[in-house]
Amino acid sequence: MGKTFDIGIESLAGGTAVRKAAAVREPRTAPLPLPLRGAPKTALRSMRGAGVAVEAAGKSFFIETFGCQMNDHDSEKVAGVLQGRGYWPVETPAQADLVLYNTCSIREKAAQKVFARLGDWKTLSDGKIIGVLGCLAQQEGEEIFERAPWVSLVCGSASYRKLPELIDQLESGGRRVTGLDLDTDETFETEITRRDRLLSAYITIIEGCDYACAYCVVPRTRGPERSRTSESVLAEARRLADAGYTEIQLLGQTVNSYRDPGPRGWRFVDLLRAVADVPGIRRVRFTTSHPNDFTREIVEAIETVPAICNHVHLPVQSGSDRILKAMRRTYTRGEYLEKISWMREGKRDISITSDIIVGFPGETAEDFEESMSLLDAAQYDAIFSFKYSPRPNTSAKDLPDAIPEDEKSRRLAILNERQRQIQTARNETLVGETMQVLTDGHHPARGVWGGRTSCNRLVNFTSTRDALLGEYVQVKILRASANLVGGEHVE
Ligand code: SAM
Ligand code: SF4
Repeated sequence: MGKTFDIGIESLAGGTAVRKAAAVREPRTAPLPLPLRGAPKTALRSMRGAGVAVEAAGKSFFIETFGCQMNDHDSEKVAGVLQGRGYWPVETPAQADLVLYNTCSIREKAAQKVFARLGDWKTLSDGKIIGVLGCLAQQEGEEIFERAPWVSLVCGSASYRKLPELIDQLESGGRRVTGLDLDTDETFETEITRRDRLLSAYITIIEGCDYACAYCVVPRTRGPERSRTSESVLAEARRLADAGYTEIQLLGQTVNSYRDPGPRGWRFVDLLRAVADVPGIRRVRFTTSHPNDFTREIVEAIETVPAICNHVHLPVQSGSDRILKAMRRTYTRGEYLEKISWMREGKRDISITSDIIVGFPGETAEDFEESMSLLDAAQYDAIFSFKYSPRPNTSAKDLPDAIPEDEKSRRLAILNERQRQIQTARNETLVGETMQVLTDGHHPARGVWGGRTSCNRLVNFTSTRDALLGEYVQVKILRASANLVGGEHVE
C-alpha cells in the first residue's frame, strides 16, 4: 500500500475522528463556550503552521474519548501515532476500520457508558478492529474480551508507548492484543501529536499518581507518578509557540507534584515559569493541583508573571477532617484553607475552583455541613461536584455506612444550589471591570462572541469588529450570572 506522508509535527489539527463523549471537565453548571461556528478554519490552521498533506492510502480510524483532559490529550497523541502510520481519521465509527474508545472509570456511570458503546458492535463489528484504551482498559484488562469478544485491543495508558508494536501485531492478524503493564517509569511521548483544539494546546508534564485516595482508581489505572524532563516539555512548548499557539495547558493528575527527572531537577514552579517565558506564549494554565504540593512559590509565580493564568483548580473533596482522613487526602481542612488564604490575600485576584464528593461512606449530616461551610469559607468561582461512586480495587469500596443514593442526590442538590449563589455573587463583582478575553467562539445569528479570561471565566460579548477568533480583546463586563459574564468589546 503506497502512501505519502508529509505532516508538520503540530499541524494535524481539527480532526473530526476524535469525538469527545463526556463534557470536558468544566464546572458542571458552566456551559461550554460558543462553538466555533463559521470559524475560519484555514486561517486558524495556517496560524499554527504548515498545512496537512496526506495522501490517505492506509486504514481509517475513529477515536471516541471519555473523561478528563488527560484522556483528551492522550487521544490526540494516539491519533498522532496512527496518522504517523498512515491511518486517516473518519467522521463516524461506521466508516472506520479501527474504532478506539479511550475510556474513563472514575465513576461507575462512565464505565457503563463504554460497555454500552461496545455492545453496539456485537453484531456489526465484522471486518473492523475494535479497541479499548485508557482507565477502563487497565481496570478490566482481559475481562473485556470476555464481556465483548469482538474487541481485539485492550491497552492502558501506562502502555501507550507500546502502541506501534501493538498495532503491528493487529495488522499482522493478531486477534487479542494487550498492553496492561502498570509498573513503568516511562512517559508517553510521540513524534506527532494531533492537535484537536484550535487555540489552546495541552502538554502532559506528569503521568500517573503516587497518592492513594481511598475512593480513586487512578493510581491503579494510570500507574505510578512519572514526570517528563523539563527539556522535553520546553521543546514541545516552543514547537507549539512556533506553530501559532499562544495558550498552553500543563496537565497531570497531580500536576504540581512535578519533579524534573533531567539534570536541572526542576520543581513544578520552575517549569511553570519557564513555559510562561517561551516567546509567543501569552497564557499558561495548569491542572490539577494537589493541595499537599501547593506552595507559596506557585502563588508568587502567578502574582508576578502575567502569562501564568490567575486560576487554580485545587480539589478539596470534603470540608470535614474526619472524612478527609477516611479519604486519605493527606491534609486537614485548616491546612487547605490556609492555602486558599495565600491566594485570597495576594496581590493578584486568583480564581479558585474545586472538586467535592458528597456521600462518601460514613459522611454524617454534620460532615456534610462542614463541606457546605467550606464553600462559604473558600468562595470558589466554580466546582465540580460528584456523588461518591464505589470503584473496584479502591480501599473505600467495602467501607461500611454507605450513604443511600437518594440521600447523595439530595446533598448534591443542596451543595450545588449554595455554590450557584456564591458564583452569582462573585461574578456580579466583575460588572464594570474590563477584562482580557481570548476569543474562541462566535454565534453569528445572535451576533455574540465567546471566550475566556485568564481567570477562566466564560465571557459572551458583542463587538463592532469581525474576525475576532483567536484574538485577545478587552471586554467591559456589563452583566453576570452564575455561569458566565457578558459584556462588550472595547478598544
Ligand atoms: N488528581 C485530582 C485530585 O487529587 O484532586 C483528581 C483527579 S480525579 C480524575 C477527578 C475527580 O473525580 C476527583 O477530584 C474527585 O472529586 C472525583 N472522583 C474520583 N473518584 C471518585 C469516586 N469514586 N466517586 C466520585 N467522585 C470521584
Ligand atoms: Fe486520585 Fe487522589 Fe491521585 Fe487525585 S491524588 S488522582 S484523587 S489518587
